[in-house]
Formats: sequence, structure tokens, C-alpha cells
Amino acid sequence: MPGVPADGTPPAPSAERPLRVAVVGAGPAGIYAAEALARQDAVPVAVDLIDRLPTPFGLVRHGIAPDHPKMRAIRDTLHRTLEDPLIRFVGNVDVGRDITLDELRTHVDAVVYTYGASLDRHLGIDGEDLPGSLAATDLVAWYTGHPDADRARVEAALADIRSVVVVGVGNVALDVARVLARTPEELEPTDMPQHVLDVLGATGVEEITVLGRRGPAQATFTTQELRELDGLERATVLVDPADLELDPAAEEQAATDRNVTRNLAVLRGWAGHAAEPGRRRLRLRFFARPVRLLGTDRVTAVEVERTAVDADGRAMGTGEVDVLPADLVVRSVGYRGTPLPGLPVDERSGTVPHEAGRVLREGRVSLGEYVAGWIKRGPSGVVGTNKHDARETVAALLADAAEGVLRPQGPVGDLVDELIARGVEPVLLDDWRAIDAAEVALGATRGRARTTMHEREALLAAVRAAAGR
Ligand code: NAP
Repeated sequence: MPGVPADGTPPAPSAERPLRVAVVGAGPAGIYAAEALARQDAVPVAVDLIDRLPTPFGLVRHGIAPDHPKMRAIRDTLHRTLEDPLIRFVGNVDVGRDITLDELRTHVDAVVYTYGASLDRHLGIDGEDLPGSLAATDLVAWYTGHPDADRARVEAALADIRSVVVVGVGNVALDVARVLARTPEELEPTDMPQHVLDVLGATGVEEITVLGRRGPAQATFTTQELRELDGLERATVLVDPADLELDPAAEEQAATDRNVTRNLAVLRGWAGHAAEPGRRRLRLRFFARPVRLLGTDRVTAVEVERTAVDADGRAMGTGEVDVLPADLVVRSVGYRGTPLPGLPVDERSGTVPHEAGRVLREGRVSLGEYVAGWIKRGPSGVVGTNKHDARETVAALLADAAEGVLRPQGPVGDLVDELIARGVEPVLLDDWRAIDAAEVALGATRGRARTTMHEREALLAAVRAAAGR
């Protein structure tokens, strides 16, 4: 560890020299980790909560669908944690680019990695990279106003679309399908950027098909999210009753899982729906896997193979193929973690190897390094899942501190001073408050509660204006 005094054991953390911890990623996992560190009395700590973006909240801001205001309201709770005097929000800092991991570790005694899993998974089929084929991560980043969203590509893919195919039957797939099926009036009360409202309002979507490669009993969406599809103003949910006929073994297995039982009940309630003139069709189709995307300059259709689920629950092709017209294909087949330069990531799972939250390097615990959230356990669970997850990690860190193996490593220079000296523009809590106020003010110009600002420069301009710079 850097800076260990040569003349003996470093002293235990104290109010004068607390244990300095950097949490890398200010999404729910990072904020819950910072909270667990700040709200305990056993070990004096000071936390720097770092994010690549000038804004906190990670997937609560750039993942949870904007038409889910109740879920997004959790940001108020998360914001309160940022106000804890033991926590310092340090946004607009790219660990790995603005400061290397090794350099960061000379400024703190421990690091908790909570930077999530932001990459998309691929299908590995022909035509996947054609214009008009997007990853859900691209579309979600765009409609939530993520500064790194590829506006040009997404907006080109959304131009003149009539038929959409969404691949995957998880909650993200339902988010995407629902947002595309909504009317401009339904989207107006969200905090989506104005250009997103304008583009979505102009699409002529008629049919959205959500494809599950296995059966309804294997779908990973949750009942509450599924049920919501039926409340859309101008879309009718359609399900083929034949897809809901399970063999006795599958039916018996389905009965052991409450989520599956409820999902099946909801789906069976929709099996009698018929398409209605003037309304969008939102079709849920199971036992169907994409084989390839067709088109030359852009996607025009998806070749789909009928599947059957084998005894091990795997989707097996039946050879029965049909072609589904599609001007837009969104693959929503999960997220994967990115490697942070200098940090090990398991290629297969896209997660950092760990033992109860302690990072493993070459199979051995790396003292002072911890991990929580999606980059620890993979892309699963709801926002609240991160609370338990982060607590496990922080418990490991605090146990290491209590045992004396994790100690303050002598004097360390202030991280923010170092970043400023490097020409980085860290965004602190007051700066974030300025961005927050600017978004509310921008929303008010159109009678909205808030409009998300999607350009990094605009976010930083709000900070500079408030600071008189
Ligand atoms: P997910 O639940 O893992 O769903 C991924 C889907 O992609 C599954 O249906 C999976 O099918 C399918 N898939 C994977 N590879 C495929 C392939 N090669 N071909 C066809 N289909 C394929 O992940 P997610 O929807 O990205 O959600 C991530 C996490 O965020 C989940 O825990 C989710 O619940 C959570 N989330 C929650 C909410 C909410 O609470 N409202 C909203 C959004 C996200 P198989 O099962 O057959 O692999």
C-alpha cells in the first residue's frame, strides 16, 4: 500500500485522520456504499464519491425509464445521502483517464468500485450492426439524456419507423417497448430532453413485437412492469394464446415461482385481445429467437425461428422460420461490465472477481480494494438490491479496518486539489445543485417540472454560471 510509514504500524483511523475511501461510481450502489460508510460509528471515515458524469445517480437518472416518475423519485432519498458531511460528491472525473487507479490509491486508503455495467450484450447474428439495429443501452441513454448518447445514430434509426422488434423479455425490453408505444401526451410529464419528446412524438410506430427466445414461464420481466403495458393510452397488448399453453411439467414448475404464476395470469388475461384500428399493437411473442437481421442499407426485417424449451430450460431451434418486418430492432439482452484500466474483470461474467466484496487479484484478496453493485454481482435486481449488496461490501471494509489490516496510509494529498491541478473540472455538491436548479428552470420554460440537460457542456456551463466563472 502506498505511503506506509517506515517506522511501524500506521495508527488507527481517528477524527483527525479518518480512513479516506474513494467510491468510484455515484449510482445507487455507490451512494448506498457511501451511506453505509458514513452512517456507522466504529471507524472514522471520509468518503469521496466519484462519478464520470457531472451528475450523480447513475441508472436512477440514466436507466430507470422517464415515464416511471415514482421509481425515479428515489433520487430524492439518494440526494439526502449526498448531503452527509462525511461524503463529498466529486463528479466529472473519469477514473482511468483523468487519474489512474494507482494515482487514485495514493490519495485514499481504500477504493470501492461501484461503476456498474454499462456495455450492451450482442446477439452474435448476421445483420446485427446494420443501421436501424440498436442496443437497448443506446436507446435508453438517448431517451434519458445521457451526455454520451449517440444522438445522430439513434435518431437516424428512429426515422420513419412503422414496425419495431425488441429482442429480450426482461424489464428493460418492456421499458423500451412501452416508451416507444406511448403518445406525446403521455411522455410530456417526464423529464426527457425536449429533442427526445420531439423525435418520439414524430414516429409513426404501428407495431412493436417483443421477442422471447424461451416461453412465458422463463421471461425475466416482473409482474408490475408487465401489467403496466395494459394501461397505455393508444396501444393494445396482444399475446398468442398458443404461446401460453404449457406442457404439464412446465406448468408445474411455473407454479413454484410467484412472479411466473402472476405473469402467466396477466398474459392469459390478454390472450383474448384483438388489434383495434387506430391503436398501436404491442405484441408479446414467445418461443421465438432472431436468426438474422435482413436489409442492405438498413434493417427491414428479422428472420425468426420458432423454439422449444428443453428439459434444462434451454431454447432449442425447431427449424420453423418466419420473417417479421422491422424498421427498427432493439436488442435488450442484458448489460455487461467494462474493465476499468488496472482492474481485473472476468471476461465471461463481466464482473470484478471478489470475495464478499473484497477484490481478488489473481485469486488473492487485494487489500484496500472493494466492489459493489452490478460490477460485483452482474446486471440484476432492482435499485434496492444494491443496498444489501453495498452493505455486505462495506461490512468487509469495516472488518478489515477493525482488524487493523486496513489503516490510514500516512498523509495523503487532497484528491480534488490534485484533480484541479491536472486541469480537471470536478463537480462538487453545490455544483450539482446548480445543475439541478438549471434543469428545473429549463423545464419551467415549457411548463414541465424538469427537463434533463443532455450535453456535458451545458451541464458544466450551469456549474460555471452559478459559480460566477
Ligand atoms: P434481463 O432480465 O437479464 O433480461 C435479458 C433478456 O434477454 C432475457 O429475456 C434473456 O432471455 C434475453 N436474452 C439474452 N440473450 C439473448 C439472446 N442471445 N437471444 C435472445 N434473447 C436473449 O436483463 P434486463 O432486462 O437488461 O434488466 C437488467 C436488470 O435491471 C434486471 O434485474 C431488471 O429486472 C432490472 N430492471 C428493473 C426495472 C424495473 O424494476 N422496472 C426496469 C429495468 C430493469 P433468456 O432468459 O432466455 O436468457
